[in-house]
Amino acid sequence: MTKAAYDVAVVGTGIVGAACADELACRGLRVVVIGDDVVGSGATAAGMGHIVVMDDSEAQFALTRYSQQLWQELRPELPSEVEYEQCGTIWVAADDEEMSEVRRKRTYYGERGAPTKALDAKELQSLEPNLRMGMAGGLLVPEDGVLYPPCAALFLMERAQARGTKLVLGVKVTQIGDGTVRLADGTEISAEIIVNAAGASSPDLTPGLDVKRRKGHLVITDRYPGFVRHQLVELGYLKSAHSTSGDSVAFNVQPRRTGQILIGSSRQYGAEHKEVDNSILVRMLQRAQEYLPGLSKMSSVRTWTGFRAATPDKLPLIGPWTGDKSVFLATGHEGLGITTSLGTARILADQISGTKPAIPVEPYLPSRTAKEYAHA
Ligand SMILES: Cc1cc2nc3c(=O)[nH]c(=O)nc-3n(C[C@H](O)[C@H](O)[C@H](O)COP(=O)(O)OP(=O)(O)OC[C@H]3O[C@@H](n4cnc5c(N)ncnc54)[C@H](O)[C@@H]3O)c2cc1C
Repeated sequence: MTKAAYDVAVVGTGIVGAACADELACRGLRVVVIGDDVVGSGATAAGMGHIVVMDDSEAQFALTRYSQQLWQELRPELPSEVEYEQCGTIWVAADDEEMSEVRRKRTYYGERGAPTKALDAKELQSLEPNLRMGMAGGLLVPEDGVLYPPCAALFLMERAQARGTKLVLGVKVTQIGDGTVRLADGTEISAEIIVNAAGASSPDLTPGLDVKRRKGHLVITDRYPGFVRHQLVELGYLKSAHSTSGDSVAFNVQPRRTGQILIGSSRQYGAEHKEVDNSILVRMLQRAQEYLPGLSKMSSVRTWTGFRAATPDKLPLIGPWTGDKSVFLATGHEGLGITTSLGTARILADQISGTKPAIPVEPYLPSRTAKEYAHA
């Protein structure tokens, strides 16, 4: 029997593939990464880079908080191009109903060891003077941050390469399984384990995977230093942006180190083309201006779209695929893959190397979808 050329082949050079390669190489495994584009392409190039703890579910909180702590640990090593800033998030409450959500969220985060501070209307106004007058208050999550995703992916990939990882770029993978990765140019790469980290394209390589493309738009402005100081997100975001069907927009704005303002966000299912959809863009910008009226006087320099890889239960798929014992998944991160890339890499590598993970992995195991099919 011939021995596989690599211990692990990772397909995909977005931030998840890069983080997995880095972590696996760090554990002494022989790793190859294959991508059809540059490092940090795909959704990683399109993403906002908000490193955020979210509480849609216990499992989502556990993975986002764990990952945020890993980013904080990594912070001293990150080069300046990664533009990591621990600016904090302010969840903005427009009215008293949303203030009750501030209190709920504060208790929830506090019980799980994540610091927060409730802000009344006056405190909010003094922290973010360009917000429309009349907001009820907000919740500051000071350990949240922002970074520039393509450079973060590049940093992780270069570290993986320095640890012996081989990088194959510019070639499409056409098939994976039975310990073999088949490339469009006819070559085959053998590996004991193949990690499907192909983001929104992951179902092309693993048929039967319930991962759908969820389109998002972003706009970046010219430089207006100091106009916003925290990542600002409307509390209504939880209601509107996280519905599992239909198009939605929400106020979600980020200060960049350059002084530019990154404006989001939108979510659409069934929109397969990359082109900017003007009706969604207009809705998204109107929503942003309802919160920050001064945006209406600013110039934008670029608008783009990207595709999140969405699962039905809004949790990523991390672990062995039930259909092939050589295939592991690291996909389905929807709008949180920049944040959760590091936690994903750790718990994937833990499963591969038989190490006890720092957080329970069961909620992310691909086998949960097989159970759903069985009960459907
Ligand atoms: C508008 C928008 C805003 C976002 N904002 C945030 C945010 O603020 N915070 C956050 O945490 N997350 C955010 N996200 C989500 C985040 O960007 C993604 O979850 C993350 O980038 C997923 O990374 P990935 O490596 O899994 O996939 P990708 O970055 O899509 O990478 C997949 C890679 O696989 C390659 N590939 C695919 N198929 C093949 C094949 N057959 N052969 C070879 N290579 C292949 C692609 O070229 C690509 O390089 C946002 C996403 C969008 C779209």
